This record gives sequence, structure tokens and C-alpha cells, in this order.
Amino acid sequence: MYPLDLTKITISEARTLLDRGEVSSVELAKEYIDRIRNLEKSIDAFVTVTEDQALLDAGQADKRIHDGTQSNLTGIPMQLKDNICYSGIPTTCSSKMLENFVPPFDATVSRTLKNENAILLGKGNLDEFAMGSSTENSALKSTKNPWNIDRVPGGSSGGPAAAVAASECMFSLGSDTGGSIRQPAALCGVVGMKPTYGLVSRFGLVAFASSLDQIGPLTKTVEDSALVLQSIAGHDSRDSTSLDVKIPDYVSNLGTDLRGFRIGVPKEYFIDGIDLEIKKSVLKAIDVLEGLGAEVKDVSLPHTKYALAVYYIIAPSEASANLSRYDGVKYGFSERDAETMWEGLENTRSKGFGPEVKRRIMLGAYALSAGYYDAFYLKAQKVRTLIRQEFEEVFETVDVLAMPTSPTTAFRIGDKMDDPLQMYLNDIFTIPANIAGIPSISVPAGLVGGLPVGLQFMAGALQEPNLFRAAYAFEQSTDWHKQTPPL
Ligand code: GLN
Repeated sequence: MYPLDLTKITISEARTLLDRGEVSSVELAKEYIDRIRNLEKSIDAFVTVTEDQALLDAGQADKRIHDGTQSNLTGIPMQLKDNICYSGIPTTCSSKMLENFVPPFDATVSRTLKNENAILLGKGNLDEFAMGSSTENSALKSTKNPWNIDRVPGGSSGGPAAAVAASECMFSLGSDTGGSIRQPAALCGVVGMKPTYGLVSRFGLVAFASSLDQIGPLTKTVEDSALVLQSIAGHDSRDSTSLDVKIPDYVSNLGTDLRGFRIGVPKEYFIDGIDLEIKKSVLKAIDVLEGLGAEVKDVSLPHTKYALAVYYIIAPSEASANLSRYDGVKYGFSERDAETMWEGLENTRSKGFGPEVKRRIMLGAYALSAGYYDAFYLKAQKVRTLIRQEFEEVFETVDVLAMPTSPTTAFRIGDKMDDPLQMYLNDIFTIPANIAGIPSISVPAGLVGGLPVGLQFMAGALQEPNLFRAAYAFEQSTDWHKQTPPL
């Protein structure tokens, strides 16, 4: 028998054990299902657990491995954020509006994972419609941080980040509109990666802000992140913003030598308000990178300070348009039993959406309304262009940028719920990458008061290999990714 706790291994380790026949996919799935049963009472990372289907699918995966026709993720137990459609399994977006919605189709990423015979263990909790930074906006449950269950896991992919940190799945897919993969990854001490806009198909991802949303992996290691991205990246004709580019080999280019590699440290990401211990951890991490041969230099991105403001015009504007489809007519929550059509619509939307979603819809509708469109939406789009151009210029002089992922470690549950602005500020360092459409990754880089700290890298559009190179070199020369929460 294998001498390991199977829930503590990485995808690449599991691949070896599965391919050698030392463990079966069914055994692997059972270990995870047991762990989910034991831990969910305290973590609440899942909104749906699909254990029966998981065991059936694992049986199929074992056949495939036996036949020698497996691929990278065959038999690997995983979770999907509950805004990614998987045919026949509820996709709630952690909203009362979609509590009973069962999609009759697969998201492209779900289809890809099914084709590889990856094993779905269930769906991960999120802030309602992915709007939030703590997963407290979920209408279904509040996920706890595995490092300290009085703390939030971050958000909106709090369920996926907590599930990976608590070893309730080997990887999860999240979505990142303004930081929703990277910020919870940082707060839970795992690796979270947002690809270049358009690299991974958005088909079947329930839309929040379509020009910003991207799906990406949450994993325990950088190598696993590269492995999952390798599977899900690629052109999809069902997503009109999908990029038709050749996908490089992300995995075999990983290495630890950073000689000749240029890392920029933008001063705008080390501002007042950032937890000083986080700043220290990140600066120490940059020293480690320099020790590996990287050439580190100070850079400046002066338009960064507008990114949060631009985001809170563009994201709510797109959200208000995307969410107009929830009218209670074809699917989802409905309370249309009223005197007039308008009353029915009002009942449906006022009872189906929670307070943060309503706040976003109102902000967006206001910014798009006649007379305000030029002042807010159009202006925000112009500043967005400036932010993007500024990144393009800086990536002519450096290969990646290094900075903190979040200005704080995991905060207490309840602490920021009465103050939306404080909550919004938690994404101040992640949002610029979405505004510019560039890839970015967060890796574990320390513990402060027993809570994880994230080191973030950003690279130019389609420069994921640079991102993985920096992240992998750092990870391999430190052991922060080997620390596990005291569960
Ligand atoms: N926390 C940010 C927001 O509330 C980002 C969310 C996300 O990336 N989905 O909008």
C-alpha cells in the first residue's frame, strides 16, 4: 500500500501513482469524499457535493488508465466554483435567484475536464454572482478560512480556495473579475492564477462583467497550476472573445534559474494602508528572487491609482446589463404572481438578489444612464486604455512585476460587511490585471500571525510562461507552499 495521505499530494504526484497502478481513481475519490464529510461542518467550502457521480466517474477513469489512454487530469478529484455550468448538477452562483437552476449544458471548461475524465467532487461556494471579497455575500452559506475558522477565506472564489487549502479537492477552478481567484488564494495559502483575458473560454461561466471575467486554476503548487491551465486554455468558437493562439507548453519550461530574468517592483503597490508585515514578507520574497539570479528594478505605474475607481464603474455597468436576464420568466427564482408584469418583475428581482448584487446593479444602471454615460462609463473606458498602455510599456523593460496580492491577511468574519468601501479596497492590488487583461498569479510567501500572505506576479498578455517561471522558481526555493492549515 502507498504510505501517503492521499489528500495531501499534488496532481503530478497523483498522476504517477495512478499511472503505476499504485492507487486507483476510486480509492483517491473515496479519500477525498471522507475528508469532505469530516471537514465540511467547519469549512463550508462546497454548496453541492456530487459523491455518487464522483465514484461512478472514477470507475470510468480507472478503465481509461487501465487501457493506457489517460491524459494529465484523468482520475484527478476536483471542484468547480458554482458559477461554472456542469450539465445536470445545480449551478447556483450562491444566489437565491439560481438556487434551483440545473444547467442542461456544460461550460467549455467542464466539457474539457469531462473529456479528460477528471473527477468532479462538487461545486464551490462564492459570493453571490462572484461579487465580493470574503464569500460572506453568498446567499447559501459563509465559507471559513481553514487556517482560522473565525476568518474569511477571501472571495469571491472562497469555496475553491478553502477547499484546496483544506485538501478537500486536488484543484478547483475559480473565476477572476477583479481578483476573485488570487485574493482568496492568498488568504488561504494556495496558488491562484488568472490567465490572459481570452485564453480560457468563458462559455458556460455565468457572466458577471464580461470584459473582465476569466476562469483559472486554484492549486497547491505552481506546477499543478501550469498543468491545469494546459488543459483548459485554448480557442473556443462559442466564446467570441476567445483568443485563437498557439498554446505553449507551460509545464516543461518550469525551472529555477532566474539569471537574465527581469523583475519590476512597482512602487504604487507598496502604499500606506498595506499591512507592514505583508510588505516585509513580499520584500523578502523579492530578495529570494534576486538571489536566484533575477535582475530586480524599481518601476512605476502611476495610473494604477485609478484602477479601483475604473473597476467600480465598468464591472457594475456590465453586471447591470448581464443580470437583466433574471426576470423569473424562463428559469431561476420567480415571484411573478402579481397584478402587473412590472410588479412581478420587481418581486422576483427584489427577493431573488441579495444586497451586494442590488448595489452593483444600481451603480451600473446609474453609470450607464443618459446624461451620466459620458461622465462615468466612457471616461472609465478611456482610463482603462491608459492603464493598459502603461502596463504594455513597463513590460518592454521587465519580464514580470512582483507585488503583494492583498493589503491584508484574512480578516475576521463580519468585520467588513458594514463597510462596502473597505471590502472593495481588499482588491486594490489585483484589479489592475483585469483592467489590462494581463495574466497574474498569487503564490504563498509567508505567514503573519498564523495567516498566509500572497506574493503576486503579473506578466504581459500571453506571457504565462514568464509568470510560471518566476512563481515556480520562488516556490521551489522556499517552503511556504508546504505549510498546511492546522485542521
Ligand atoms: N471582489 C471584487 C468584486 O467584488 C472582485 C470579484 C471577482 O473577481 N469576481 O467585484
